[in-house]
Amino acid sequence: MAEDNEINATDIQSVKFDELVNFFTSKKIELKCKECGVVDPAITSARKENEDILYAAVSQSLIANESSEANTLFYFNVSCQNCGYVRLFNAKGITEQIHKSKNTEGGE
Ligand SMILES: [Zn+2]
Repeated sequence: MAEDNEINATDIQSVKFDELVNFFTSKKIELKCKECGVVDPAITSARKENEDILYAAVSQSLIANESSEANTLFYFNVSCQNCGYVRLFNAKGITEQIHKSKNTEGGE
């Protein structure tokens, strides 16, 4: 039960596009494609209806018979719209850090 502050799928889904771009910028992660050099990334792969919200791109069950959220890896998927090169970032870890920085900055 007491999984207190575990980041869950809902938290991950609530991360906004700008927050994620800000996170990448703060970590000095170039959004320019490592393969073809074009700066036209799509950070995807699902959006909530009518909202500019990013969503965990890929989820995988780590344990064959259990597909619970706890056994799922969530990724933010940054893909190049020019050549299709895909990078995956651990969504749980990023969401956790975004939450932390929100809490210390006290919101906008
Ligand atoms: Zn590319």
